[in-house]
Amino acid sequence: MFASTAYRQASRAAFSCSRRQLSAAASNAASSNGKNMLTVAACVSAVGATYVAYGVSEKDKAQAAFGFVSSSTAQKQVDDEKEKFAKYWPRCIMILFGPPGSGKGTQGPKIEELLGIAQLSTGDMLRAAVSAGTEVGKKAQAVMKAGGLVSDEIVVGIIRDRIREPDCKYGFILDGFPRTLVQAKALDAMLAEEGAVVSRVIELEVPDSVLEERICGRWIHKKSGRSYHVKYAPPKSMQKDASGAAVPDSMKDDETGEPLMQRADDTAGALVKRLQGYHSETVPILQHYKPTGVVEKVNANQQMAGVWKEVLRALAGGKIE
Ligand code: AMP
Repeated sequence: MFASTAYRQASRAAFSCSRRQLSAAASNAASSNGKNMLTVAACVSAVGATYVAYGVSEKDKAQAAFGFVSSSTAQKQVDDEKEKFAKYWPRCIMILFGPPGSGKGTQGPKIEELLGIAQLSTGDMLRAAVSAGTEVGKKAQAVMKAGGLVSDEIVVGIIRDRIREPDCKYGFILDGFPRTLVQAKALDAMLAEEGAVVSRVIELEVPDSVLEERICGRWIHKKSGRSYHVKYAPPKSMQKDASGAAVPDSMKDDETGEPLMQRADDTAGALVKRLQGYHSETVPILQHYKPTGVVEKVNANQQMAGVWKEVLRALAGGKIE
């Protein structure tokens, strides 16, 4: 069962001819169960055609096809490939762009799963710092609650450290960063040090008039990040009072039954400030990236399936319908 999943994963990657995906699929399969030689062999043989281009010998491929390859040999092949991609292949550096409530937190994990690159949300990182009571958290807490922007210095520092982590080697998806031109230029400078550039900006468009209902009805399961909405995606447990409003104590996560929470800044009052900041400080970033041809628009004010279809088109640089 697991072997066939791994095989499908690797074949899909091979046929889509994405070297990064191929490496990630093979690596995932190998590392999730290092003892399972058949799995590794299935994975290696599925991508065998592509391996030819990278100099894996016929003997190795034949051995892999019949399950004779040891997991350590297969892992070494995977590691060698990964090293090569990290060195020579441009990283996929993507910015998910859009106002609060436009769906960055919903689309990000789906892109993460599709491409196997990490989603980095500065909002999540800052909320974690606030919960942990760190120095950064103490500095950020009040301004976040009021819907203002945390200082460029703090967020640039957080991102600088985060993108050096090994899981960002092949690329990453930025959610909520950059939010000012200063941050965009700092990002460009950080990337330039490694010969990298922003390769895609996906702009999720939603009219301001729709955002208040989206934001104020939003409930979150803190541990998993699962997001619900009283009207559009209510949890199974939700009960309503006589006026039709959701009863807070009834809001529980569908999977764990744990209580859901509302973000301190998901209020109509804070949203006004967040939207002001978005239009005055964040939107100009689009003009900064447009000349490089990486910006793709998505209509995020439609059914989820339609948004995802447009996101896929945007990921491909608008090349598919
Ligand atoms: P988000 O979860 O992206 O809506 O972010 C929540 C809050 O965290 C924002 O309203 C800001 O107060 C703060 N924040 C997140 N990212 C940034 C950033 N790049 N620059 C400044 N403040 C940020």
